[in-house]
Amino acid sequence: MTDLFSKFDPLIEQRAALLSTGVTDPFSLVMEKVLSPTVAICNGRETILLGTYNYMGMTFDEDVIAAGKDALDKFGSGTTGSRVLNGTYQGHREVEEALKDFYAMDHAMVFSTGYQANLGIISTIAGKGDYIILDIDSHASIYDGCKMGDAEIVAFRHNDIEALEKRLKRLPPEAGKLVVLEGVYSMLGDVAPLKEMIRIAKENGAMVLVDEAHSMGFIGEHGRGVAEAQGVIDDVDFIIGTFSKSVGTVGGFCVSNHPKFEILRLVCRPYVFTASLPPSVVATAATSIRKLMHGSNKRAHLWENSKALHKGLRDLGFTLGTDEPQSAIIAVIMPDLERGAMMWEALLEEGLYVNLARPPATPAGMTLLRCSLCAEHSADQVGEILGRFERAGKRTGIIG
Ligand code: PMP
Repeated sequence: MTDLFSKFDPLIEQRAALLSTGVTDPFSLVMEKVLSPTVAICNGRETILLGTYNYMGMTFDEDVIAAGKDALDKFGSGTTGSRVLNGTYQGHREVEEALKDFYAMDHAMVFSTGYQANLGIISTIAGKGDYIILDIDSHASIYDGCKMGDAEIVAFRHNDIEALEKRLKRLPPEAGKLVVLEGVYSMLGDVAPLKEMIRIAKENGAMVLVDEAHSMGFIGEHGRGVAEAQGVIDDVDFIIGTFSKSVGTVGGFCVSNHPKFEILRLVCRPYVFTASLPPSVVATAATSIRKLMHGSNKRAHLWENSKALHKGLRDLGFTLGTDEPQSAIIAVIMPDLERGAMMWEALLEEGLYVNLARPPATPAGMTLLRCSLCAEHSADQVGEILGRFERAGKRTGIIG
């Protein structure tokens, strides 16, 4: 018998080597208590959270929590069914209405996660004989959506406008084409040149899908994302998003103005063949999305936090993923996985949690400490965060 697990041996060995240095396992941390969007108890210690996707800090919003409790009381703990059978409750309709209002678009379809939204929409709309043209650094859910469908896949160099154009020009003019982009790329926190890329896509007869998972609620005048900020949202055919970041719960969605969009509810397998979100989740999401429509003060404060952290880390001598802060994500580049894990642990001992990211999730084989800011981080907390980075960086020799 061939052990089907032998393919995992290199990873098992790499993990064993890392853990044998005595470092805390960076991938099995437990949040023992969560006190607020920015503070939790980890290993018995009060810890500032700088590695969540809670950009707008909605997880402890009073109205959001009240809506969830009320729905739990009135509708029970789960729907036990698919959206197309018994799993569409009033709340699912309400959250789709909230999304249509938030994006000012005609259609909204809610999935059980953002992962499933990409999986479902991409695999369903691009079929045999069609082409998907995607940025090489696309999220795993985009790649998995491509794998699940029957379209031809063409990747282009990250954020490279000319490479996109070259690839598009080589394709048969009459073929169906879907260009897939992200507003903010989550590993380095860099923003896509959507304006130019969408113009080129349209000139070459392609439809455009933009995943705005990391920009919703924060970027753009109304928080609709990078496409809004760059003035091209009307040219985007499909926006994919998630409730697991700024919205503060779980779920995914696609919004669109395509006149035939509603047919997807019958043909999109990751929508049909899975249970719908619990009533409490859609109630919290709808309340949060409606509150995010009036979030301009929070958005301004989050930008201040992002700028202050970026400047502070650069002044301390850390190498960052972007020259300027472009989003709420600031990536600190580590020399290698071992020293990245040491620095991650040193920060945790200082009472600061960040994400340790490493290949294959990261581009170019990089190990990153990913910091993501929250609109609820105070200016004092950002100062405290910088102090902890300085102490941990000096202790591990990452900075001089
Ligand atoms: N798209 C992008 C760009 C993401 O970063 C993520 C999650 N990190 C997703 C989609 C999936 O979202 P969800 O957590 O709702 O599955």
